[in-house]
Parts: sequence; C-alpha cells; structure tokens
Amino acid sequence: ADVPALTLQPARFAALGPAYCQAVAPQPLPAPAWVGVSAPAARALGLPQGWTDERHLHALSGNGLLPGAVPVATVYSGHQFGVWAGQLGDGRALLLGDRAGPDGVWEVQLKGSGRTPYSRMGDGRAVLRSSIREFLASEAMHALGIPTTRALCVTGSPAPVWRETVETAAVVTRLAPSFVRFGHFEHFASLRDEAGLRALADFVIDHFYPGCRQPEGPADTAPWHDPALDGPSLPWATEGCANPYARLLEAVVRRTATLLAAWQAVGFCHGVMNTDNMSILGLTLDYGPYQFLDAFDSRHICNHSDHGGRYAYARQPQVAYWNLHCLAQALVPLLDDTEQALAALTPYRGTFLNALHRRMNAKLGLGAPQEGDAERVEALLRLMEADRVDYPIFWRRLTDAVAEGALAHEARAATGALGPVRDLFLQRDAFDAWAAEWRTRAQIDGRDAALQRMRQANPRVVLRNHLAQLAIERAQAGDPSGVAELLDALLHPDADPAHPALTDFPPEWASRLCISCSS
Ligand code: AMP
Ligand code: MG
Ligand code: MG
Repeated sequence: ADVPALTLQPARFAALGPAYCQAVAPQPLPAPAWVGVSAPAARALGLPQGWTDERHLHALSGNGLLPGAVPVATVYSGHQFGVWAGQLGDGRALLLGDRAGPDGVWEVQLKGSGRTPYSRMGDGRAVLRSSIREFLASEAMHALGIPTTRALCVTGSPAPVWRETVETAAVVTRLAPSFVRFGHFEHFASLRDEAGLRALADFVIDHFYPGCRQPEGPADTAPWHDPALDGPSLPWATEGCANPYARLLEAVVRRTATLLAAWQAVGFCHGVMNTDNMSILGLTLDYGPYQFLDAFDSRHICNHSDHGGRYAYARQPQVAYWNLHCLAQALVPLLDDTEQALAALTPYRGTFLNALHRRMNAKLGLGAPQEGDAERVEALLRLMEADRVDYPIFWRRLTDAVAEGALAHEARAATGALGPVRDLFLQRDAFDAWAAEWRTRAQIDGRDAALQRMRQANPRVVLRNHLAQLAIERAQAGDPSGVAELLDALLHPDADPAHPALTDFPPEWASRLCISCSS
C-alpha cells in the first residue's frame, strides 16, 4: 500500500466558495515526532491498525499533503469577552478535507500548521503544552459521552514558538462533523450579506439538521440527540413553523442547553466561551485554558486572562444563553420577525434545567427527577462549596459507598460505607442529615439501578490540570509515554487506572498552575 490510509475528499464546506474560506498550504515543521494518538478516533475515521507511519507523521505535521486534501482556512467573526471583535477566522487551523468513516463524514483539521490570512498578529502555531491539553480533553470528553470535537493525534517538533517563554511547536489533528461556529453566522450578518448568511444556514441545515425542513417532524434528528432531555415544546412544534431558520435556531438552542448541562454536571469550565468558540452542532469546541473542577467552587475562574470572571464556572449556562442571543441576532434577516428569534430562544432555560436535573440525579444514583430532588442537589453543592470538597472524589466515593452497602436498609451498614464520603466534609452533622435524606430517596429504585447510573455518571479518572501538566512536562523532556498512559485511563473513566495516582487529590502546586488564553 503506497497510498496513505488517511485519504480525504475536498471539504463540503469549502464548496461554499471564497467568501467562506481561502486556500492555504500548511507550513512545514522540522523533525516531527508522534506525541499522542487516539485509537478510538482512528477507528471513527476507518483507519487500519498501524496507520501511524512516516507519511502520516509528515502530512499531519504540515509537511506535505494527504491524498485528496485541499486545505482551506475559514473566516468567522465574533464576540470576545462580551465585546464585538470583528473578523477573526482560522488563524492557525486548516480544514484539510472530509473523510467518510463508518458512522459518518468527518471534517479533518490541522491546528497549529502555520499562518493563514486570518492570523492577524499571531504566528499560526500551537505549543506542545496546549496541543496535548486539547488532544486529551477532546478524547476524554467523548469517552464521558459529552458532545465534543475529537482529536486523532498530536505531533511535536523542536521548532521554537515564543509565548511567555520559548516553547516548542505541535500540531493537533482535530475532527468534527462540522467546525462551523456561531461566529461564522455573525460574520455574514455583520457584512449585511444576506445571501451569504442564507447559504451558510442552508449548508448547516442540509447536512446536519435536515429535520428543519420537515415542519411535521423534529428539527433535530441526529442519533445522539436525546429528545427526553428537551424542555417543553414551542407552539410551532404542533402548529407548524414553516421557517427552517427559526427551527434551526431552536435546535441549536436546545443542543447548547444540553451541552451546558453536561459541562456543569461533570465540573467542566471552558474558560473562553466567546461566540467564535461556540459550535453550531452543540459540541465542546476549542480547548484552551479549560479546567475540570478540583474542589467545588461555583465561582471558579480557570482562565487567568479572565480578570472579571465572565466565564466563571457558575456563569457558563448564562453566558451560553447570551451567546445564543448573538446567534439569534445574526439569524434575524432570515426569520419572519424578531419575535420569532426570541421565541426560538425560550426553550433554553427549560431544556438546560431538565438536562441538568437528570444528569445530577444520575450522579446520585436516581432516576427521573422528582419533587425535591433539585433542592437536595443544591443543598449538597452549597455544603461542598462551603467545605471545599473535591468534586470528582466526592462523586466517586459516593459511588463506591453505594457498592459497599450505603443503600442497605440497616443504618449501621450505611454508616460504615459512607465513612469515606463523610470524611471529605468539615460539617459532619450537615452531611449526615443530607445523606439520610438522599438514602431514603435512593432506596426507592434500589442499589443495582443506582450503582449502574452512578458508575456511568461519576468518572473515576478526570482530566485535572495537574494530571495534564505531569504528562506535558514528561513530553517536553522528550518522553511522550505519559500522554498515552493518561489517555488510556481517560478512555476508561470507570475503571481503576494502572497508576492509582491518577485518582488522587490534586497536589498543592495544582492550585498555582497558571493557564491563560495564550497557547
Ligand atoms: P481563541 O482564543 O483560541 O478562540 O482564538 C481567537 C482567535 O485568535 C482565532 O481567530 C484564532 O484563530 C486566533 N489565534 C489564536 N492563537 C493564534 C496564533 N498563535 N496564531 C494565529 N492566530 C491565532
Ligand atoms: Mg477559538
Ligand atoms: Mg483557542
């Protein structure tokens, strides 16, 4: 086989034409080496075992092109930190082409492959540190069942890249059904290019939301979309709304709401929720200064450049709603009237809360939400916040406690099993009171159902900042095996990892890690 396995076709997106993207060649990097490879991502692309040969290494680090690749950089605009930023675009990413895998078509992107017409003052490069972080987070989120862009691999090079200090260059190969962002729509709206806006919306509907053109059925027919999570329907779901763009907006509103519920439940802070980092498919997109919570802190700010805390953990659902208003505003020219835009936004709150309550219930071993459940979750989170309880460890100890008999009817068995959870709190009496109520509620469905839900919802291994940092430091010193070890654990979040340290409390230095937008 002389042809590399990763053959591509010109991206469907690129056929939209020069108003949407520009042809750009990747810039070579010297002496590339593999840093990380995701086997599940390779399977999603239909790549054979042993595909990681020299030709792929070179092509995926920007040295030459894969067969069929027609690389383009796409243009978008957006709001950054609440302020209109004007034109942005793929400043260091290139869309190489499309690839049909066993379950659908993927866009294949390089990130960090050099300057583009949208690089502005940037160098078009990504550093090894941030590339490893994006690679691991993409695959970890997918393994947790949270919608996300994917990552096939990271390659590194000794080429220097200047940030706060000198670092080295890396390239991430990213995958998504589409990388279209809210900012792509804002771009054409800001140019008052209604035809361009419509063609973009038609592209997204035709490929990803075809249900929008069938007023009788659901707008969102993607197999991974769970209608059980949707809040109440809009009047037009029964009366029929003929405007496909209003239905598109409503579908994106619902997907974004469900995504935010997933983030909040797992303790994921995105860090840079600008409208250009919001996916039209409701995927987690653009992993920069993100963080999975250590101690529970609703005001946690993971991005050291976010001085005002605009993107603090507890603000994320509201910020996503704000971003959806920007998308709605951009779509107004295609809608019947402004009222229609506002109507399409209304399902956000109900859908978010519905999805959040189900996710939090699952973490507690509970089925469909009942009266009082949401209040009990709030009481728990308040207690955890006051006592700075470690978020992932709490959930996993609670899961282990159920396995050890915490839901047994004899109170003494429960007390023993809940000991390690109780130890996490300073306010022991308050915890005991909470736990007594939770036990009564959870006993309704029984231990087995509870345990199954909890094992799925409460990962044993979470990609905390310090775990990524340790793998990064080894890779920077020339040994990328820590990346593979961590990835392996993240791909099996319910299993006991080979290295028990992966489930430990964060070390003291973790709170001093400074992660900013600069990457
Ligand atoms: P981000 O904060 O990662 O969402 O990036 C915001 C904008 O800056 C996007 O248009 C990026 O493509 C661009 N950008 C970020 N870093 C670089 C870089 N090193 N070189 C060129 N463009 C960049
Ligand atoms: Mg971005
Ligand atoms: Mg970024």
